[in-house]
Amino acid sequence: MTQAHAPEELPAWLLPGWEWLNQSLASGRVPAALLIQGPQGLGKTWLARVWAQKLLCQASVHALPCGVCPSCLLFLAGNHPDYGLVEPVEPGKVIGVDAIRQLIHKLSLKPQYNGYRVVVIEPAHLLNINAANALLKTLEEPSPYTLIILISAAPHKLPVTLLSRCQKLTLSRPDQQQALDWLTARGVSQNPHILLELAYGSPLTALGLDETGHLQKRDRIIRELLEIRAGTQDPVQLAGQWEPLFNEEVIEWIMTGVNQWIRLKLGLASPVQDTARLTSPSDSGIEAISIEALFGYWDFLIQTRQNIGHNMNTRLLVEALLIRWQALESG
Ligand SMILES: [Zn+2]
Repeated sequence: MTQAHAPEELPAWLLPGWEWLNQSLASGRVPAALLIQGPQGLGKTWLARVWAQKLLCQASVHALPCGVCPSCLLFLAGNHPDYGLVEPVEPGKVIGVDAIRQLIHKLSLKPQYNGYRVVVIEPAHLLNINAANALLKTLEEPSPYTLIILISAAPHKLPVTLLSRCQKLTLSRPDQQQALDWLTARGVSQNPHILLELAYGSPLTALGLDETGHLQKRDRIIRELLEIRAGTQDPVQLAGQWEPLFNEEVIEWIMTGVNQWIRLKLGLASPVQDTARLTSPSDSGIEAISIEALFGYWDFLIQTRQNIGHNMNTRLLVEALLIRWQALESG
């Protein structure tokens, strides 16, 4: 048997969660409704997928799914009939009630493989209120061997009624060395320290930043923010250029910059000047911004990120973001 399809080994920081899931299986108490929560970029989805694959695996005597049985092959090809993923139609948009109705219909049919059925809903906090209510009914009357896994980096945005129905598995950031070892083993092309710094400690985010184009796009975003402060960019004009590429990721990039500037001001990080172009406050006009204003802007970014996809006018959202940035007070 080939090892070619064997699932990748889980990173060390996911192993406690993995253990917990396996113990639930060993003791016959697999959570019918599970919420995997924790910051972005830790591998919540990764863990959920390996868990789903293991439950569906037909040779599941191993710790990890075998990767070669018919069930695993279907799963890895994205065609397992007893596995479902519910996600926004477009990134950042809400998950509507139609998606949940389709799911409920699917779950009313017999499973194809006579084993578990697993549904992952991600990101669960983007369920709109009707979708959440429809899902709640399903969670209140669970079908046997049917597991619903909710994934969220912002579980506080989920209705309490839904939260109370779920068992929770909370992932937290790995220690720095664990993350650096993992990034190094993945063969990242940039300095793993810098990538991790930019990703504020989330290894998968750091890995994503290393992928072609991402760091360059982030550089552009950060550079143009600095140009606004320097008075060489007009926020309204720039908003027009940002509008087509604006999404949650862009806000994340801005947040990595603001986070870095806050930490530099607090003396919690040392300026790093190199390929990743982390900007030190002294050379960028950031020095003039008060720490309070930066914290305020951070909160504003979190708020803005929540508003993406909620039928907000993107152009107005970007304009507000850039005008506010220009107006941040000195101190
Ligand atoms: Zn298998």
